[in-house]
Amino acid sequence: MSGAPQGGPRYDEPEADAFTRTYWDAAARGRLLIRRCAACGRAHHYPREFCPHCWSEDVVWEAASGRATLYTWSVVHRNDLPPFRDRTPYVAAVVDLAEGPRMMTEVVECGEAELRVGMGLRAAFRAVGSVAVPVFRPSHRG
Ligand SMILES: [Zn+2]
Repeated sequence: MSGAPQGGPRYDEPEADAFTRTYWDAAARGRLLIRRCAACGRAHHYPREFCPHCWSEDVVWEAASGRATLYTWSVVHRNDLPPFRDRTPYVAAVVDLAEGPRMMTEVVECGEAELRVGMGLRAAFRAVGSVAVPVFRPSHRG
């Protein structure tokens, strides 16, 4: 398969709104932000204006360490939506951030056979259209 599609719809480019702009601006600078609730102390991701644990509005941005461990994954061999079809196979994953939140993402630079539950990961960022989306690679890769 060849021929990267030019133009046409993309299904992986997130839209920033007024609230999530802070998150995407940080991502563009290579920083992963999470939200932490001052009322119950728990962190969450993807960012919300209310704490999903106790519904408090007293939630602030916090820079995450970028450290995570692999919780589960699925190797995607087929995805017909552009631009994913040019990228298969890829590793769709759920990771546990060191700060607590569980996050859906993608593991890169890691062979299928190397994937292990609990393996250490570090955040990296991939340019997608005009934004950078967080992905994770094995921490032993630096
Ligand atoms: Zn809370």
